[in-house]
Amino acid sequence: MIKITKVDVFQVSNPDTPVSKPILCRIYTDKGIYGDGEAAMSYGIATTGAFGMLQDLSNLIIGMNPLENEVIWQKMYRSTFWGQNGGGVFTAAMSAIDMAIWDIKGKYFNVPIHMLLGGKQRDHLRTYASQLQFGWEETMKDMITTEQYAWAAKKAVAEGYDCIKVDFLWYRPDGKKYSDDERTTLLNPKTIATVVDRVRATREAVGDDVDIIMENHSLTDAQSAVQLAKAVEPFNIFYFEEPNTPDSHTAKYISEKTNIPIANGERIYTRWQYNKFFENNTIQVAQPDIGTCGGITEVKKVCDLAYIYDVAIQLHVSGSPLSTAAALQVEATIPNFIIHEHHIINITPANIKLCKYDYQPVGGKFKVPELPGLGNEWSDYVLNEAKKVTIESNKLAW
Ligand code: MG
Repeated sequence: MIKITKVDVFQVSNPDTPVSKPILCRIYTDKGIYGDGEAAMSYGIATTGAFGMLQDLSNLIIGMNPLENEVIWQKMYRSTFWGQNGGGVFTAAMSAIDMAIWDIKGKYFNVPIHMLLGGKQRDHLRTYASQLQFGWEETMKDMITTEQYAWAAKKAVAEGYDCIKVDFLWYRPDGKKYSDDERTTLLNPKTIATVVDRVRATREAVGDDVDIIMENHSLTDAQSAVQLAKAVEPFNIFYFEEPNTPDSHTAKYISEKTNIPIANGERIYTRWQYNKFFENNTIQVAQPDIGTCGGITEVKKVCDLAYIYDVAIQLHVSGSPLSTAAALQVEATIPNFIIHEHHIINITPANIKLCKYDYQPVGGKFKVPELPGLGNEWSDYVLNEAKKVTIESNKLAW
């Protein structure tokens, strides 16, 4: 028997980067084994909520057996009132705990997590360079001109990547971000022409041996997404990510009007939400995030559910290097893996310093970490300098 004795919940402050407030945890046991996890919400407006939610859920698991990931997952989902159909903040906190107990489980059995998930289907994971509207180097920059888009694409390809992802509708030609009004309902001809020019420049820069994923961050809506998809169809887009607010009805409207495969998932949580998209065949590439969708326990089930609908999996990864390690552990094992996401934040020093090891792809391919557990852990920087709340007993009345 092994028991959870304590959880440290961390909030890192990184004011100079888009990953400004990583929310992390370390779970301790009475056998001296610890595990690390992440609620992958370091960007956007939810970090304070995730920090509190993770503390609340940590109360529930003190004294439980960390090897019983299904028992713990079910308790978080069913015994908390807000767990069932819980929103992103809830499932992100569940994810951090689930990720950490899988880390403990791997260390307890002295094997990497991919062994516990059934073994590797592949040794090398094809990887793409992600979010090239911010360039592709340690310091993120705004890509505005067609020459800048071509430069960023060529830089990634020179490093060995044969796939890139770009949000071509992020920056206006004057360098400001497009407003919500400019991206929704219907696009004006100049906006469409700007996107087409950037896509053309990118395609011409990399040739036909490189796949281009078009990202839209759910900032277009169903109508403008269809306009955009039709405009870029001649450039052989690999897939179109988050064309609008994830919703199974509008997803049907979009997918019926374009030949480009649709990817979605970083804002879709748990099997209950994914199943609607699978049943109406409106997602061709599912992108659950292990740090927000309910952890390894839940994402493995989403991947298996996707498999019976011939839906490919590219896990969404936009967190710390620990989340990258967790994604690689799952992606190595699933039959429907398509490609791994390497976000530009994963090459920035502010993100790399969160973890002990800095794994990077070589020649556009990643290898799964082979250390016991996740294969990475929080650095001394996190352990010593982050804001920390320690949970050692169940103080919640519920
Ligand atoms: Mg995305």
